[in-house]
Amino acid sequence: MDAVIGYLLHANLLTVKVSINFDNTYARLPERFYARLAPASLRVPKLIRVNRGLAESLSISRDWLESEEGVAMLSGNQAPEGAEPIAQAYAGHQFGGFVPQLGDGRALLLGEIVDTKGDRFDLQLKGSGRTPFSRQGDGKSALGPVIREYIVSEAMAALGVPTTRALAAVASGENVLRAEGSLPGGVFTRIAASHIRVGTFQYYYARNDLEGTRLLADYVIARHYPEAADSSNPYSALIGSVAKAQADLIAQWMSLGFIHGVMNTDNMAVSGETIDYGPCAFMDAFHPQCVFSSIDRGARYAWGNQPDIGLWNLTRFAETLLPLLSENTKEAKSLAESALSQFSDRFADQYIGGFRTKLGLPSSAPVTLIQDSLDLLASEKIDFTLFFRRLTQVAGGDSHQDLSVLFPEEEVFEKWFSNWRKEADPGNRYSEMRLANPILIPRNHRIEQAIQAAYRGDYSLFHRLVDALANPFDEQTEYEDLESPPLPEEVVHETFCGT
Ligand code: AMP
Ligand code: MG
Repeated sequence: MDAVIGYLLHANLLTVKVSINFDNTYARLPERFYARLAPASLRVPKLIRVNRGLAESLSISRDWLESEEGVAMLSGNQAPEGAEPIAQAYAGHQFGGFVPQLGDGRALLLGEIVDTKGDRFDLQLKGSGRTPFSRQGDGKSALGPVIREYIVSEAMAALGVPTTRALAAVASGENVLRAEGSLPGGVFTRIAASHIRVGTFQYYYARNDLEGTRLLADYVIARHYPEAADSSNPYSALIGSVAKAQADLIAQWMSLGFIHGVMNTDNMAVSGETIDYGPCAFMDAFHPQCVFSSIDRGARYAWGNQPDIGLWNLTRFAETLLPLLSENTKEAKSLAESALSQFSDRFADQYIGGFRTKLGLPSSAPVTLIQDSLDLLASEKIDFTLFFRRLTQVAGGDSHQDLSVLFPEEEVFEKWFSNWRKEADPGNRYSEMRLANPILIPRNHRIEQAIQAAYRGDYSLFHRLVDALANPFDEQTEYEDLESPPLPEEVVHETFCGT
């Protein structure tokens, strides 16, 4: 829907009022689903960046977003007309332990907008102050996590992965106290298909609130999976649809070397979008057990564990719907199991298909070559993205020299390479490979450099990264330096939560 430009004549002053055309539905659900409140105000917010392309696709005037009034909204100083700010309630399993009440502790849903294609999106502020769900937290965000989420979520979108999007980043002009000390704060504005999580369902389940679960399930079906409504058992169809969306998503993450880092059930969106970029990372050197998150001590959310965790989370989701599936407990369980069983096959298909494409393998090539290739990358500690990038160049006709130099042991490479040559069909698959193997990913050390510069008030590295990552599959000579893995002194070993 169009941003509406209305010239409103007030009592004795003429103001130019530009509003977003909100169409809020979540705020029509019962009051126990959320808390209504206004965002906290900031004295001297400073706009860092507006995502102009995204604003346009949502028919929000980018000039307005960058105006004083727009920044007032993006910093939480003023809720625009039609917004109905709410903090959403949810629960969640965090690292396997159930917390019956989490909720938006530092986020505020301003409302929903519908784009020109008819798709509905949430507009949410992150870091806009305390809410009834804040517990001990201050409801604010340091600037670092704002910068990180902006860069990574936009890179994900450009890589073709379902994700929440960054609409804007604002420096709050205030400092927040974190373990690292006093840090400049920020407010992030994000757009999402919705912010409904597996943990949102768990909130009602934990309270034996069957009516709440039903209302939420019906809402999700109507908003995200309308075809499920026509099924003989809509709730089992809902489980199946969410399972498929997550299977596709996790397979895509893995094909890019992405580690979400905190796959708690409160960080898994039922829409199938990647959500909550905390201590996430794209791997440099490949290892299936790779973890970056400073809070993931047991490596629960390592790269290679993501499908198992995905299914574990989906099982928690299905659990909440059991009473809706059938009055007969045994039948309900069997319906849930059969819906969940779609996950593994779907994941395997997507994962194998994704890596076949990345490696330029026809369907006749043995599937074992995928695992052999990944084993090779792991044992030789090869940079994941650079390997596939250079392999793509070989498929495009370049010599294999640039690929072989990545390997410390020449014979090991030669053995693998001759095997690959025998099985692969690079000539016919080059264009596919190009679209599956990005040249640029948001490397951790680059994000870290951008964050550190932002803390000094210099946003140039941030802007440059965002600009470069908008076209991750293109040859962009001006951004060639961003292709390289980190130097030993640049390696980031740990990433931190947004708190
Ligand atoms: P996360 O795992 O970082 O997505 O957050 C888990 C929970 O902690 C959510 O309920 C957040 O809203 C809450 N939370 C995180 N950081 C803060 C903060 N600074 N203030 C209040 N609540 C927070
Ligand atoms: Mg979260």
